[in-house]
Order: sequence, then C-alpha cells, then structure tokens
Amino acid sequence: MTRMKVLSLLLLLYVGISSAFPVDPEKEDEGKNIDLVETYLQNFYNLEKDHRPHLRKGGKNHLAEKLKEMQEFFGLQVTGKPDHDTLEMMNKPRCGVPDVEQYVFTTGNPKWKKNNLTYRIVNYTRKMRQTDVDAAIQKALNVWSSVTPLTFQKTKDKIADIMISFEYRDHKDNSPFDGPDGQLAHAFQPGEGLGGDVHLDDEEAWTKDGRGYNLFIVVAHELGHSLGLSHSNDPGALMYPNYAYTDPKEFRLPQDDIDGIQAIYGQSNDAVQPTGPTTPQACDPNLTFDAITTLRGEMMFFKGRYMLRKHPERSETELNFISLFWPNLPSGIQAAYENIERDEILLFKGNEDKYWVVRGYDIAYGYPKPIYRLGFPKTVKRVNAAYSDETTGKTYFFVADRYWRYDENKKSMDHGYPRKIIQDFGKIGRVDAVFQKDGYVYFFHGTTQFQFDPRAKRIVNQMKSISWFNC
Ligand SMILES: [Zn+2]
Ligand SMILES: [Zn+2]
Repeated sequence: MTRMKVLSLLLLLYVGISSAFPVDPEKEDEGKNIDLVETYLQNFYNLEKDHRPHLRKGGKNHLAEKLKEMQEFFGLQVTGKPDHDTLEMMNKPRCGVPDVEQYVFTTGNPKWKKNNLTYRIVNYTRKMRQTDVDAAIQKALNVWSSVTPLTFQKTKDKIADIMISFEYRDHKDNSPFDGPDGQLAHAFQPGEGLGGDVHLDDEEAWTKDGRGYNLFIVVAHELGHSLGLSHSNDPGALMYPNYAYTDPKEFRLPQDDIDGIQAIYGQSNDAVQPTGPTTPQACDPNLTFDAITTLRGEMMFFKGRYMLRKHPERSETELNFISLFWPNLPSGIQAAYENIERDEILLFKGNEDKYWVVRGYDIAYGYPKPIYRLGFPKTVKRVNAAYSDETTGKTYFFVADRYWRYDENKKSMDHGYPRKIIQDFGKIGRVDAVFQKDGYVYFFHGTTQFQFDPRAKRIVNQMKSISWFNC
C-alpha cells in the first residue's frame, strides 16, 4: 500500500472518529498547509504562480476566490478557507490535468476530425510486464470505442495520433511530474504534436490489480482527455479528477462519461446502445437501496459500488466508493448488518453465496465464507436483507418471501424457521434492505420504507426510502 493511500485512510478514520465533533476551520493551521493549497490551486485552478499572498492583499483574495472555485467543483462547503475537508480532498492522488481550462490550444470543443485514430505505446514501465501494459491499454481504448464510432489502430510508426509514454519528472512539456502519488498522469486534448498524447508518471506503483495505481483505470481516464473530454464533477464518473479504484473485471463506463463522449462523437454503430451506471443522489425520490446497516452510530446505505454514509448529527450525506473503505470487497452488497456486541459488520454479496466479516477497515481473517456456515440450506443462494437485534442477540435474515432467525450466542439457526415474512411483519413484501435503530426496525421495499415496532408487532409508519437524508 502506498503512503498516500495510508494517509487518506487515516484521514477517513479521523473523520469517522471525530465526526460528532466537527473540526473548526478557524483552528486549522493555515500556515502549515499554505504550500499545499497554493501548489494545488496553481496546478489545477489556474492560480498565477507569481502571486504572494503574504505581501499582497489582492493576491490573498484571489487565492480565496480560487479556493471557492475548487470547493464548488468538489461539492464541498464553499468557505474560501483551507478547512479540513478541503485539505483532505487536496491530498488525494489525481490526474494532472487542470479542472478549469488552462492549456487551451483551440477554443470551443476540441475533437478529432476523423473517427479512425492511431496510437503508439512509446515505452514501458519496469513495474509491470509488457503484456500486462498492452492489455491494460487495449482495454482502456475499448472503453471508448465501444460507446462511439471511434476505432483505434496500433502503429509502430514514429508518429501516431495518440502517443502513450511513461515519463519522469520534467519531461519538456511544461508539466513536470512530482514523484510518487500526487499527480499520476496527464493527457492533451485532440490536436497536432502533443495533442492526444498520454503521459504516465513512471514513479507511480503501476499495477494490473487493486494494489498501487491500476494502469487500466488511469489510462482510460486519460484517454478521455485525448478525445476531448474535460473533468466531470460527478464523483462516480471516470472523468472525475481523483483516482478511484474499480476492479477492471467489474468496470462499466458510467453514464455521465457516455453522455459526454457521445455529445462529441455521436453514438456507437451497434444496434443496441450501451448504457452505464449513474451515481446515486441522496435526494432522488426514485433511489432504492441494496443493503443498509448501522456502523458505530452511523448509517451506511449500499448501492452498487457506492455507499451513502449518514451521521445522525450531521446534515450532509457522504457519498463514497465501497472500495475506498474496503478495497478487497466487491461491489454489489445485497445484505449487511452490524453486530454491536462484537463491533463487526457482516456483508453479503448478491451473486455469490458468501459473506464477509469486517472490523473497522479490515476484513476479518479467513473471509469470505459460505453462507451455509450460518445454517442456511443449500437451496438458499442469496440473502436479500438482514438485521440484528442487539437486545436479544437474534439476527433476522430475509430471503424472498421468508425469513430465518439466527442466534448470535449459540451460533446457530433457531428451530421453526424459515417463516413467512407476511405472518410476522405484515404486508411489507420482499425486503431489499433493513436495519434496526432506537428500538424500531425499518424495512425497505423499492422506494417505500416501513417502520416496524417489534413490541407491538405491527407497522407504525410508512415513508419514502430516502427519508433519512435531509432533502
Ligand atoms: Zn484528468
Ligand atoms: Zn507530460
């Protein structure tokens, strides 16, 4: 694991622990971080390099304006001050291309004037096998050719439209790399010469998997620039400036990127147009959930490869990739529950009959394990939803129209199960997600949520599924 990744995990952990006591921005040490802030804004927000914030009042205001622009882009609170969340965002590894236009060669939307492009792999990195580099780049090109009429032809000619190379520090294009982490790569918009070229920082820990930085993910992002896309502020988009790992086997180009590239080059020639995942929005009334659990007083809502995190005392909802917390956990969690007694959460995946035990940021040793260890019959292939009752030590598993009850102390299924859900919980239908909080059980079915009182054994309220977010 790289140093930067450790750092951002530590920062997240810090947020997790301190979230009940929000950091006072006034108490942040501004002087200590001013270099980071200045460099970041110079690189990505077109802050002039010669301004001196300590000497010129005008310059300082200019810095605050640029800071607000950056905070706006990332959906942070717009304070104009380098507060905790802002510094955390600036510490993340990312693409070297600015978020605001700076190196504009041509005005308007730059694009290739032909659909059949050539590319050349100029050199290789020592950190990966050549065949793995070739495969990653090929896969990255396919990401874009599969949703547009574009084709990419590999060439060994000296000049290709898209030249892909690994570069070290100052490599004579006015955009020196910064060593490990920080800026990972950059690319140039369509055009002659450097136009369309992709430069990868040779000092990064390039990999074909989830360790270090995945070459496929980074090249796919950079090729978006090569084809004329700028950065997106959709945190789920491939063209979001910050690096986020997705298992290449599970990668699907998000709809935001499909819309962007098709606006430039049009749709693919395939009869069936591909569609991509959209990023969940907390206040979308049509939002449904795959799984929900409490975790140390917070609520975690799982959806695809995302997790919406809500602290009861904070108004905002935090959107994260599941992989940011648990890099080895696949997306598509279908059921989750917290065992408060053991400070664990258990996660169940959709298409695999396995479950994971997670303690903080760590997956417990020996997991995943088959769900049959819990006492399910072999006919059960997946668990739809689960919650655990802290007071009785009983865990409820919902599978289609039935449920099982598990005894956490005896570590076995109780006798007399499964039972029909409708018999004991009422007309809630199939359960997508469930959790228990303050003595009530909340069942989710599509966009509808049922509040169930276990003492009265009846549904006491019915709300929209998104009622937990401040919309
Ligand atoms: Zn970029
Ligand atoms: Zn370069």
